[in-house]
Amino acid sequence: MHNRDAVFLEDLCPKLRVRRWRQSLHSYTGKSCIYCGNTSESIDHVIPLSLGGLSITENCVPACLSCNGDKSDKEAFDWYRQQKFYDPRRAMAIRAWMDGDLRLALRLLQWAQPNDIKDKEISKNSKLAAMNKDWSFQTV
Ligand SMILES: [Zn+2]
Repeated sequence: MHNRDAVFLEDLCPKLRVRRWRQSLHSYTGKSCIYCGNTSESIDHVIPLSLGGLSITENCVPACLSCNGDKSDKEAFDWYRQQKFYDPRRAMAIRAWMDGDLRLALRLLQWAQPNDIKDKEISKNSKLAAMNKDWSFQTV
């Protein structure tokens, strides 16, 4: 299949676009929860939808079900600081993620979790992130 056909297919099937977008978010962190490092099984809104958060890459992070459920509608940084697994490097990574600087975010996550995110994945994924810029606005 041609690349152009893929784009066309995504235009026809918004659900496919959303799925690919969600998958790309998980792939940035090597499928690990941005808060605790466990396997990410869901996408969390850093600023909850109920507080006006948007379904865009900058506000959506890979999270495990436990963190996602526990955080719920709370403000992410208040909630995160109270967790046993709180890591300031991860908090900085989340800030960078929200600023749209995925490259910095992944560097910080790698620092917090050296074995899970390899250098070459960071450059590959930040290239992907640049390519996916136009996917930012999505419904989750
Ligand atoms: Zn977690």
